[in-house]
Amino acid sequence: MYEYIIGADIGGTWIRVALCTKDLKEQNIKIKMLNTPKADELSISKTLSSLITSILYENDLNKEDLIGIGIATAGPIDIKKGEIFNNANLGFKVIPLKEPLQKIFTEIPIYIINDANASALGIHYFEATEEEKDNLVYVTMSTGIGGGVICNGHLLLGKDGNAAEIGHGLVNPQSSFQCNCGAFGCWEVYSSGTGVRNRALEAIKKTNLSSKILMYMIDNDLTKLTAKEIFQAARGADKFSKSIVDQCIYFTKVGVGLINNFYDCKAIYFGGAMLKDHDLILPPIIDQFENDPLLFTINRPPKIKKTKYLENIGLRGALVLVKYKLEGNPIIS
Ligand SMILES: [Zn+2]
Repeated sequence: MYEYIIGADIGGTWIRVALCTKDLKEQNIKIKMLNTPKADELSISKTLSSLITSILYENDLNKEDLIGIGIATAGPIDIKKGEIFNNANLGFKVIPLKEPLQKIFTEIPIYIINDANASALGIHYFEATEEEKDNLVYVTMSTGIGGGVICNGHLLLGKDGNAAEIGHGLVNPQSSFQCNCGAFGCWEVYSSGTGVRNRALEAIKKTNLSSKILMYMIDNDLTKLTAKEIFQAARGADKFSKSIVDQCIYFTKVGVGLINNFYDCKAIYFGGAMLKDHDLILPPIIDQFENDPLLFTINRPPKIKKTKYLENIGLRGALVLVKYKLEGNPIIS
């Protein structure tokens, strides 16, 4: 009889669940997803448990076949209590996860982790080369910017499980742009999807600068503007959009430099929804760190890469979390 692991990834839009045999063989990974509910504090844990129950049922399995559940979630998290707190997108001050699930899946170990940290584990197991494994960083560029760091073969977690909130690293302390977190001039204020949209809106309002192409793409309705259209217009050589994208890239170089100064990493893997435009974002960053790294980092530069599991790397990482926990792998002990 096989033993199975459940991995889950809770984001602002989707809750994804994966089922796999404990050997994490590629061909055995099954995935199921639902929209993230926002009705009350317990609706996320309810949706999660019904997703787990149905994926087990569809594969002719029972709770007894499970050896562990790993939950990767948008943070901040309290890793000991197993709950999310103060999350701006999910809508409630505290969202309990572990306790309500444990009532249903009694006896099964349940582990919680911040989603970017989970992704770093996913990269570690599924993608990193041998020489990258002990010192690698994962960066997600999506609605916000987050990170996960493996340094000296150890995943950095911090006191609550929120280490490596690199998106809130100040890249421009004199900035007049305020971040969701309350600070001014965080990296994600310039380079996240929300940041790119807000910078473009700001420039349009303040300077009357804009572009006909961009306005045409959104039917002259600024409420329709997202990072996607800005990148698309930049691709079409629209100067205004290109200047916004250039700013996103510049501050990502600053962010990469900070990460490498702090963690002296061998590789930085990028993921997240914005990396659909990786062909615009990554080449100038790779070029900078291959040819002129000293402008941004004093340490030897890391290799810059993209994860091939774009939207599923956190989910894969949640599976890996359970595997590593049960093996007593020193990376997560
Ligand atoms: Zn911030």
